[in-house]
Amino acid sequence: MYRHFVIFLKIPENSTLQTVDFSKLLCYIKIVIIRIEVMQPMALSFFGGVHPKGYKELSCEVPILPFCPKTVSIAMSQHIGRPCTPLVKIGDRVSVGQKIGDGEGLCVPVHASVSGTVIAVELRPTPSGTDGMCVVIESDGRDTLCPDIHKRESIAELTGEELTAIIREAGITGMGGAGFPTNVKISSGLGKVDTVIVNGAECEPYITSDDRLMREAPEKIAGGIRIIQKILQPERTAVGIEKNKAKAIAAMQAALPGDVELLPLRVRYPQGAEKQLIQTVTGRCVPPGGLPAAVGCAVFNVATCAAIYDAVYEGMPLVRRAVTVTGRAIARPSNFSVPIGTLYSDLIEAAGGFSSEPYKILCGGPMMGIAQHTLACGTIKGNNALTCFSQADNHEVEVPHCIRCGKCLDVCPMHLMPLQLQRARQKGDLAALEKGNVMDCIECGSCAYNCPAGIHLVQSFRTAKKMLRDAKAKEAVK
Ligand code: SF4
Ligand code: SF4
Repeated sequence: MYRHFVIFLKIPENSTLQTVDFSKLLCYIKIVIIRIEVMQPMALSFFGGVHPKGYKELSCEVPILPFCPKTVSIAMSQHIGRPCTPLVKIGDRVSVGQKIGDGEGLCVPVHASVSGTVIAVELRPTPSGTDGMCVVIESDGRDTLCPDIHKRESIAELTGEELTAIIREAGITGMGGAGFPTNVKISSGLGKVDTVIVNGAECEPYITSDDRLMREAPEKIAGGIRIIQKILQPERTAVGIEKNKAKAIAAMQAALPGDVELLPLRVRYPQGAEKQLIQTVTGRCVPPGGLPAAVGCAVFNVATCAAIYDAVYEGMPLVRRAVTVTGRAIARPSNFSVPIGTLYSDLIEAAGGFSSEPYKILCGGPMMGIAQHTLACGTIKGNNALTCFSQADNHEVEVPHCIRCGKCLDVCPMHLMPLQLQRARQKGDLAALEKGNVMDCIECGSCAYNCPAGIHLVQSFRTAKKMLRDAKAKEAVK
């Protein structure tokens, strides 16, 4: 896999070995090597990445248990795009699967995940770290189904357009991370996509919800894949699963139809990131700022495929999802099937509560998760885990200071130069941030993981992206 490089260095005549800044030199050498790699992308692999300890053993053997909370707080903003407008008011009675919010444009509806009474429609904390409009429902414990929900025996008569409309009405969004409306992803891929990739990599440490779903409901996932194939008509369909999930691979292998390839993948983070998975499976590189459809691909998470099956065959909107509650501060790391909007405080209690004082709680895993300042948030559709770290996991450096070691350059799967982006962000140099393609940062956290100085690079790049977006928005209104 690795090539060898011979680099000749000419030291200027007026310099001695003592006056050469070797740390700077090392950085430049690494930049040269990365640029050579960019020019020669390797098929069936991706550049960079890291191999953090998995900690999956904490919860991977725990089956997904159904959880029924007393109250849910359902955010009207669940995905990339416009938030929904609430369709219910305080005092309304709702049933499971009833639409409680919808909107125009890049927006899909949200549905009641329990039956009961609406007790609030107000701003409440959400996992993004800000307050957002939420519909709060007190459950009556009966889980009465909405009368609009009907099963389908066959989909033979349905057109691709009708299936896509069902997926939209079911409120399905990508369940592996970014949360893009699935109907829009499908529609924008029509006629462009020759390869459908199903993402079962689950490369982020600690999280096991997809692993369990593949073991426990492989037929549902396979059924969802069949529906996607019927709409997009791809030449090739492949399911990628990291090799360390042997039981999930066996279960999926048994359930998948013969024309769907199952690819056991190298265990390396971020193997499950969309662009890296495409490169691994097809050898194609999504161009900077581009979408997978630009290289003929569409990627769907395994949980999204199962949700598509539920929507089309069971008539059930996306009202539940599997969530891993884990970390060394949790008494009984577990996997739960929870109604959307289940409060974090209830989830932690269901997993036995805290075993020790938590140091940090993340919505998601340790690499890409978002730190939470309250447990009053409700789970959202893209929320695959709640990870709670103990004080023993605290490796914060008091005053982080870059030592110019270049280790962040080695691992960036997007071929970015984190140390230069970090400097540009500190200076507020928007031109340098744009030139350095900070918008291509997938916030995977590999650079921060590899940084010996403990610099909060991901938070820094999130801020930098917001700075650029705000500057562009300002420019647009001038
Ligand atoms: S967080 Fe961004 S800059 Fe850092 S390794 Fe990932 S893609 Fe690269
Ligand atoms: S940001 Fe961290 S990894 Fe990158 S050069 Fe500085 S100290 Fe090294």
